[in-house]
Amino acid sequence: MALFAINGLPVVIVDFLFRFGIAPGIFVGFAVYFITVEEIHWRIHLGEWLPPVLGAARAYHLAHHARSDARFNIFLPLWDLAFGTAGD
Ligand SMILES: [Zn+2]
Repeated sequence: MALFAINGLPVVIVDFLFRFGIAPGIFVGFAVYFITVEEIHWRIHLGEWLPPVLGAARAYHLAHHARSDARFNIFLPLWDLAFGTAGD
């Protein structure tokens, strides 16, 4: 909830100031993203089925729990690569 509020506040402010009218669509996108991330996260931990394209995500994410100072991304290590936290 706090993460949603922290990310949503700038959207509300910018949308209000410039009257873009896109905040509702952005919030729907946020909600879909967070639900998707949590679904994939739990499927990784519970050993449930994942789409074949996410086959490497399970080992990648579980390595994060073995070494908590690296591999922060759950299924797309874009930011880990950008910030050098992908680990060994
Ligand atoms: Zn996890």
